[in-house]
Amino acid sequence: MNSKTKILVTGGAGYIGCHGVLALQNAGYEVLVLDNLVYGHRKIVEEVLKAELIVGDTSDRHLLDQIFTVHNINAVMHFAAYAYVGESVTNPAKYYRNNVVGTLTLLEAMLEANIKHFVFSSTCATYGEPQQIPIPESHPQSPINPYGMSKLMVEQILADFNSAYDFKSVAFRYFNAAGADPEGRMGEDHNPETHLIPLILETALGQRDHISVFGSDYSTPDGTCIRDYIHVTDLADAHVLGLEYLLKGGASTAFNLGNGNGYSVKEVIETAKKITQKPIKVVISDRRAGDPPMLVGSSDRAREILGWQPQYADLSQIVQHAWNWSNK
Ligand code: UDP
Repeated sequence: MNSKTKILVTGGAGYIGCHGVLALQNAGYEVLVLDNLVYGHRKIVEEVLKAELIVGDTSDRHLLDQIFTVHNINAVMHFAAYAYVGESVTNPAKYYRNNVVGTLTLLEAMLEANIKHFVFSSTCATYGEPQQIPIPESHPQSPINPYGMSKLMVEQILADFNSAYDFKSVAFRYFNAAGADPEGRMGEDHNPETHLIPLILETALGQRDHISVFGSDYSTPDGTCIRDYIHVTDLADAHVLGLEYLLKGGASTAFNLGNGNGYSVKEVIETAKKITQKPIKVVISDRRAGDPPMLVGSSDRAREILGWQPQYADLSQIVQHAWNWSNK
């Protein structure tokens, strides 16, 4: 690899983006971060990653043109997005404006600057209700919320850009990103927090009274929802492989990223009890709207084509790393 290859990482101050920046740095790339800091953390970029940060929005075309003129960017890794499913239902305009219009603005600026390699954070939410488990990439895409739809729209834009402009992209459809940097430098820090593992750990730390289990009457072995949790470091490593695949001339495509193992909400809570050795009060509550009983992906394609090998596929490791980070 040419050590001068420079990657623009949007959303590099966010949870998944910052692990992406670290993986790129570890692989020898130069990184420039663009983040509007609405949900991202300046400190992580400047103090932990020591990467150059530009504070701004992907919908700011003038800023993008400036960035692509001043910096010799070879490819873009695009993590920046709003990702609260519930909020996307109540405020879809926010999601379509940021996730679709913002991305289109970025893509047009890239075309203008003749940068044609793009790694995109998509989601298993583009599939909607699963018709088969594990879900392959060929599964029909029929999102059931505006968040998933906003990501699917971008996938469609990317397919059309590929045909019209020879623009090459890899879209990664994430399952449940979880865990933290194994060395404890970075982790999940959302505000508000809605994700299962950090909420369980906040309960173990006494910051919450209890964890609510959203439904215990699903058609699963213990009645609680099953999800495919993937370690954020494994996710980040896949992005570097996706980038390298594109830089070597790979065709535009999409890959699932999960670890192929489903765990129920109850299993996650039991694992957290063992790891934290703390009492965790559990309250069974109503189902959350829009939650399918089981979401597990097949990531065979990423393994076969990218040679991706998750290092932390075990739920205990995922929860242990998240705990090390929250319990600092
Ligand atoms: N969940 C739960 N209680 C919570 C948060 C989540 O029971 O306080 C469940 C949720 O219904 C889902 C799983 O945990 O089955 C993972 O939810 P999360 O919000 O972490 O990710 P999602 O699968 O929605 O992307």
